[in-house]
Amino acid sequence: MEATRTQVQTEGKYIPGTPEGDRYFLECTLELCRISVAKGSSPVGCVIVNKDGKILAEGRNRVMEKWPAEPHEVADASFAHAEMVAFFRLGQIEDPENTTLYSSLEPCIMCGGAIGMVALGRAVWAADDPWGGSGRMIKWNEHPAYKATSVSQCSFPDLEAQAAAMFAPEAHKAYPDEGWKMWQERYPEACKPVLEGKND
Ligand SMILES: [Zn+2]
Repeated sequence: MEATRTQVQTEGKYIPGTPEGDRYFLECTLELCRISVAKGSSPVGCVIVNKDGKILAEGRNRVMEKWPAEPHEVADASFAHAEMVAFFRLGQIEDPENTTLYSSLEPCIMCGGAIGMVALGRAVWAADDPWGGSGRMIKWNEHPAYKATSVSQCSFPDLEAQAAAMFAPEAHKAYPDEGWKMWQERYPEACKPVLEGKND
């Protein structure tokens, strides 16, 4: 596992649900995004945190990387999304109702489904994903499977802008025209450099 700030013991220092805590853990997901890009995978990062602020597991997108030797690791698979990597590393979730999942990007329907299935207490993400996010197919907080999970909108515009800017080139590359159009409508500033070819 790469050395990131998520390996630093922060239990008790940053508490999920407080502005400082939410900001810190979202920043952790952005750091993981940058590592994913450096490794050739998609820019998505995630941390799962208990009520005392202990990071139980971290994950980042590893779709384009070789299968690792370590147990409980997933990579080199279409489903090696940041959240799934973190869930597999975590194994059993002891106290889901008091557990928060932070992601740099709105979870897709697979990862959102996993969050709902284990009834995590809270999900927070930095940037919406108008095409690939599960919100397009499932309205979080309305679907019965998600009743246990409170979904918090990102309250840090600077982090949302950073996360959107990091994912915009991927949205351009991976999504069909309709999806890219939705991204341009939702995050015009983040998509502008991609349209101008600055991210190629
Ligand atoms: Zn996903």
